Amino acid sequence: MVKTVRILGIFAMMLFVWTSCHSVRKPSIYKKRFGQLSDGRSVDLYTLVNRNGMKVKITNYGGIVVSLEVPDRNGKWADVVLGYDRLEDYIQNNPYFGCIIGRYGNRIAKGQFTLDGKKYQLACNNFPNHLHGGKVGFDKVLWNAEPFVDEKGPKLRLTYKSPDGEEGYPGNLDVTVVYTLTEDNGLLIEYTATTDQPTIVNLTNHSYFNLSGMESKTILDHVLWMDADRFTPVDSTLIPTGELRSVSGTPLDFRKPTKIGERIGSEDMQIRYGQGYDHNYVLNGEMNTFRLVATVVDPFSGRKMEVWTTEPGLQFYSGNFLDGSIKGKRGIVYGHRSGFCLETQHFPDSPNHPEFPSTVLRPGEVYKTKTMYRFLTEK
Ligand code: BGC
Repeated sequence: MVKTVRILGIFAMMLFVWTSCHSVRKPSIYKKRFGQLSDGRSVDLYTLVNRNGMKVKITNYGGIVVSLEVPDRNGKWADVVLGYDRLEDYIQNNPYFGCIIGRYGNRIAKGQFTLDGKKYQLACNNFPNHLHGGKVGFDKVLWNAEPFVDEKGPKLRLTYKSPDGEEGYPGNLDVTVVYTLTEDNGLLIEYTATTDQPTIVNLTNHSYFNLSGMESKTILDHVLWMDADRFTPVDSTLIPTGELRSVSGTPLDFRKPTKIGERIGSEDMQIRYGQGYDHNYVLNGEMNTFRLVATVVDPFSGRKMEVWTTEPGLQFYSGNFLDGSIKGKRGIVYGHRSGFCLETQHFPDSPNHPEFPSTVLRPGEVYKTKTMYRFLTEK
């Protein structure tokens, strides 16, 4: 009897030690109020946590990724995206930190395009061009949010009905963006849209990353690799000329992992126009195939980010317009090049370049793309 009790005791102790070492965390979602819009509508902040403890906070205002906590090579957690602590700051002055961008991510020359013989004029909110959906793009609207958990992990489904004529775009557009925090530490973003009239669509997410968690004041030591043999050179207003130019022999070549800062001061005309990197890369591989297209490593923390997408293009923006005038989360000042963006997308100004992959969506068709930012570490 005593022996049986002793054996049971030892067994219970072993079970306790095993469960503490292999703490089985359940994927979860918490919702709290983030603030209020001037028209009285309430805005929420959702926290998604996966089994590994990776955490993302997303608000239904602009679908903004407010924070993203990932471990470094020693298991130290840090928030790797730029942003604000308060909703008011996102409303007042946001250089697109973390937002969903639409209807058309990136620039359209002079805000003009012709579709089926009809001319459209959009706002020129980035003189002399249209940028990121106009004055009130998808980054500044309130999305309907539904949190849920399925076998892939915790999810947030955001939906928005963009009325016909909104920001000058034709057609009622129904948009759904599903964020999933996957069990292999990916932030998966799935975009779908349908329309009742021919229109143009190019959706993306505009997170600014600093993989050091802002311990490094700039991202110039981050090492970038991009699977792109070509890019779309731009004019002085950052509109593509139409050429697909080889990166070979230029400071835009990231086919071998290279520090972002290594050639950023180059006299190359493209770098000068962008005031650094602000270019769309023509990704290798098949468009509509979900493939690894870029990696970024912070050599100090060992944090590594992979970018996977079905899109044909990737805008690499090195945070050139951050100038130290923004005080972000935890009171940290965001200086020049303190964050970088890798915006998966169709090419800029595609509606005026029939030779580029089409961004036209017609009734009966479904716009469908997906992108994942996945986090790992390196020794
Ligand atoms: C553009 C930059 C622009 C920035 C705004 C990027 O997607 O390429 O030119 O300044 O967004 O935050």
